[in-house]
Amino acid sequence: MATRTRVPALGAEGWFTPDSDEPTLIGQRCLECGTYVFPRANLGCPNPACSGVDLEEAPLSRRGKIWSYTDARYQPPSPYVVPSEEHVPFAIAAVELADEGLVVMGQVVPGVSVDDLSVGQEVELVVDVLFSDDDTDHLIWKWKPVAAGGGEA
Ligand SMILES: [Zn+2]
Repeated sequence: MATRTRVPALGAEGWFTPDSDEPTLIGQRCLECGTYVFPRANLGCPNPACSGVDLEEAPLSRRGKIWSYTDARYQPPSPYVVPSEEHVPFAIAAVELADEGLVVMGQVVPGVSVDDLSVGQEVELVVDVLFSDDDTDHLIWKWKPVAAGGGEA
């Protein structure tokens, strides 16, 4: 059995903790004014009223509420014909993290369509495969609706 390598997708290295049971987005927090940043900023604090340049790494909330969402429904252009499987549309959500006041975009997990989503709905962060090649799974974070009713499983 071949060992598959799991790596963050190109461009997303260091943006999240891919191997944790409870994956977390890695943002930054301004030491001066406390403003949170995601993805990380290389030019200092984004708060125009702040001149802080020192940012510390900060794990972000794993849960947030849907602020907006949309449908990434597309098909390959003609004349390309998908051999067997149909393209599976997926949803994209902009999720507001309550503690940080940040809005973070992400795909919604497979099997959840825009019909299943609503503004204000609570979602949590998971890590899923964006795509795979021969021996590597390229990972990205996705948003997953939190089951209504809560409670421990
Ligand atoms: Zn600041």
